[in-house]
Amino acid sequence: MGRVLDGATIAAAIKEEVAADVRQLAQQGVRPGLAAVLVGNVAASEIYVRSKVQTCADLGLFSELITPPESVTTEDMLDLVCALNSRDDIDGILIQLPLPSQVDTKALLDAVAPAKDVDGFHPVNAGRLQAGRPALAPCTPAGIIEILKRSGIAMAGANAVIVGRSDIVGKPAAMLLLHRNATVTICHSKTRDLGAVTREADILVAAIGRPGFITADMVKPGATIIDVGINRITERSEFDRYFAGDAKREATFAKRGSTIVGDVHPQAFAVAGAYTPVPGGVGPLTIAMLMANTVRAARMRRGL
Ligand code: NDP
Repeated sequence: MGRVLDGATIAAAIKEEVAADVRQLAQQGVRPGLAAVLVGNVAASEIYVRSKVQTCADLGLFSELITPPESVTTEDMLDLVCALNSRDDIDGILIQLPLPSQVDTKALLDAVAPAKDVDGFHPVNAGRLQAGRPALAPCTPAGIIEILKRSGIAMAGANAVIVGRSDIVGKPAAMLLLHRNATVTICHSKTRDLGAVTREADILVAAIGRPGFITADMVKPGATIIDVGINRITERSEFDRYFAGDAKREATFAKRGSTIVGDVHPQAFAVAGAYTPVPGGVGPLTIAMLMANTVRAARMRRGL
């Protein structure tokens, strides 16, 4: 079994650093602030946003939770974003996705001031990231880099293969690894003979959204696996496919009627040199990096 890359411990260290940074900014009269916009009552979104707001409080950041109704229009949301853009106490604007279908998500994300775009989704930040200019990078990919860096996994010269090309995970992860001098290959649903490509990876990033998709035969022995996927499974047969004989998982599944599996089959971790578990790998980094981005935005906006 490969070495476990413990995301919770790494995220805790980053949050400590952010809290120290917030204390230092306080001496200059600055308190970084995050506005979190949560539309409607999607249970999962509510859990995510509340934990982001709570983390702000824990680390000393100001935060404001704004909860427009499910029926909100694109115009109302654009007005809200415009008001947040011009508020001096707000350094970061987070719009929790997904939004209701009547809201034009792209128009809204494009309306967020790039300097306050702490999710790193604005095309200006995507462009800056690509051009190697200072940018607010998307939180999950930035978290992947922190895991690799703080775990002593060499990126320079490594073959990094990323499965998934989304704008929020795959593409920015590829760009960040490229900036760290990895040799990067991006795969997607049209990639031919995927296993032949993934078997070349020293660092394999799975961001696909399909439970247990990367199997042991697709992994080079000793490789580092970063499993970004979060897939909830509720079927007994599916559970057995991934976790048969795992007493700890069995207990969770019996208690909750579900458990989470990544995009990598747990058997593949036996082949790996190191891997991020699911849960407890990449997940905890996402909020930590959101906090780090908010403090960074506060500094950048004031030229500090
Ligand atoms: P998307 O659905 O936006 O993208 C999935 C990507 O996987 C696409 O590029 C798609 O290819 C590719 N893909 C799908 N099927 C295959 C296949 N058979 N072979 C090769 N590639 C394939 O997902 P996201 O990037 O948003 O998320 C990926 C996973 O990461 C999800 O499980 C999500 O829940 C999780 N996630 C976790 C976060 C965290 O904090 N840990 C944060 C964000 C996401 P194509 O482009 O050709 O369709």
